[in-house]
Amino acid sequence: MSQFWSPIVQTLTPYVPGEQPKLPGLIKLNTNENPYPPSPAVTAAMHAVTADSLRLYPDPDASELKKTLSAYHDVQPNEIFVGNGSDEVLAFAFMSLLKHSEPLLFPDITYSFYPVYCKLFGIDYIEVPLNSAMEIDTADYDNRACGGIIFPNPNAPTGIPLALSKIEALLIKQPNAVVVVDEAYVDFGGETAIPLIHKYPNLLVIRTFSKSRSLAGLRVGFAMGHAKLIEALERVKNSFNSYPMDRLALAGAVASYGDETYFQKTNAAIIASREQMTASLQKLGFSVLPSAANFIFARHESYAAEQLAAGLRERAIIVRHFKHPRINQYLRISIGNPDECKMLIQTLTLLTSNH
Ligand SMILES: *Cc1c(COP(=O)(O)O)cnc(C)c1O
Repeated sequence: MSQFWSPIVQTLTPYVPGEQPKLPGLIKLNTNENPYPPSPAVTAAMHAVTADSLRLYPDPDASELKKTLSAYHDVQPNEIFVGNGSDEVLAFAFMSLLKHSEPLLFPDITYSFYPVYCKLFGIDYIEVPLNSAMEIDTADYDNRACGGIIFPNPNAPTGIPLALSKIEALLIKQPNAVVVVDEAYVDFGGETAIPLIHKYPNLLVIRTFSKSRSLAGLRVGFAMGHAKLIEALERVKNSFNSYPMDRLALAGAVASYGDETYFQKTNAAIIASREQMTASLQKLGFSVLPSAANFIFARHESYAAEQLAAGLRERAIIVRHFKHPRINQYLRISIGNPDECKMLIQTLTLLTSNH
């Protein structure tokens, strides 16, 4: 604390991201990064950005990137907002669309950044419990007075996907609330809500390049929705930072969408590893929630998650453990490359073998 702080700073509880250790040689399965490098086309496009061009500000409208996303996702450029990582896009959505007199609704177990944004922007919220199968039940959101609804699909950290028909039913039941679907993991097996944005003016879909496009370090995310929703995000952005996307990020992001073959190949590899890892963990006595993401959420019948996480860490493997009472027996394990998955299973075999 300091006398120089604005009063709000004292009230904040900042988000704690998964550890980014400096130690070399660690098997890092704690932040859902992609184990494969980005497409070689991304590297080439970023090398083609000359140092001299960095004298000049980037395109404040990110027109070329919006054109690329528009063609791929079949939405108009004015139905797209791009930002410096989807965390930033989410921040703009909280500020511009989700702050109303009624509370915002989101699951009790979900992306832990949502309550952090609520505190920063002074948004009242209610955490709606997942059902006993750890699923989002949209009926729990149907008839509640609210200022908005947000959830990831697939949800994090459970990995469980929600059917598009359920999302559509919710959009119909809550026509006066903005429903934000955070599709950070949708490319690993979820059903996208993008086709619904032309039908429901209250739907905003948010995406990131960080997971399925192997570009967490580039910081690119975007939102798609009715032009009026996008206008709200643009108004906030242009009151805050006119140039969130730098030239390297713009070049790399456009190039990523140019290499569909690579994208499909790496996603298929991760999905195959996920299925294999699920089966191996089940053999070791873990119950594994049905994941459609690039991570799995698993608990062991007889070993405490915190001890397992500590045991893995001693053996240079890091996974994520959450202290929230409802999920503190679970480990969230990102899907690594085949060697990393093998090491994880070998190590967990060791740690769970002294029955
Ligand atoms: C990873 C993640 C994000 C943030 O992605 P960035 O684009 O890297 O900021 C947003 N939402 C969820 C649910 C995530 O897991």
